Amino acid sequence: MSITLQNTVLTYPDGDTRLRALDDVSLTVERGELAAITGPSGSGKSSLLAVAGLLITPDSGTVIIDGSDVTGLDRTARTTVRRQQLGFVFQQANLMASLTATEQLLMITHLGGGSVRGQRARARDLLSTLGLEKQLDRRPHQLSGGQRQRVAIARSLMNDPSVLLVDEPTSALDEDRSREIVELLATLSHERDVAIVMVTHDLSQLDLVDGVYEMHSGPCRRRPCPRSRGGNRRKPVWP
Ligand code: ADP
Ligand code: MG
Repeated sequence: MSITLQNTVLTYPDGDTRLRALDDVSLTVERGELAAITGPSGSGKSSLLAVAGLLITPDSGTVIIDGSDVTGLDRTARTTVRRQQLGFVFQQANLMASLTATEQLLMITHLGGGSVRGQRARARDLLSTLGLEKQLDRRPHQLSGGQRQRVAIARSLMNDPSVLLVDEPTSALDEDRSREIVELLATLSHERDVAIVMVTHDLSQLDLVDGVYEMHSGPCRRRPCPRSRGGNRRKPVWP
């Protein structure tokens, strides 16, 4: 199972017109695969993740998660899909300053209404798997940038998602640390059978991924060929 976007169009209000952030974008990422989304700033990469993550409903097109069409779900059902099937990692780790690494993960369980007590061992196991066995009880200011991003990745895996959506996870890291994070994501996708969609502007890491989608405003120019076509063309709402 996987995530699929079919012919998604997303526009934002822009004065008297609409800005086309996604112009007929299609992609499929299977479980066990790490896919990279590249493209210039403003080409719609974050918008694509927002649509895939059910944070924004597209103007048209279909979002399929694990074989189910989730495009038309109401707000409550979307939240359930997000909690149960999706994970998110953003550019900044967005950790809470007062919590230890373990507590950052347990917060997810707490917010989801689950028993924190039963999840403590799982949180520690996940952090250890991600190379943080010595940092379990450290707070964000005691962690390096790469370690903070690992905590954020571990946190995103707490609900055992089938799809992980990752927006520029290495933008705050140096080259070696960036490569380690992308290597980690590749390993996680294969070993935990997760479909990972990773936005990145870092072309030097693309040898580690299973597929590349390039967002731009024209037709595809690169192989492996994306079936995606980025947007950002201004089109009037009423032609
Ligand atoms: P990227 O992540 O590739 O830099 P984005 O998806 O953030 O691109 O943005 C795509 C386009 O949509 C940009 O022109 C941006 O200015 C515009 N945009 C993004 N979010 C909004 C919003 N909430 N309202 C209006 N325009 C937006
Ligand atoms: Mg972005």
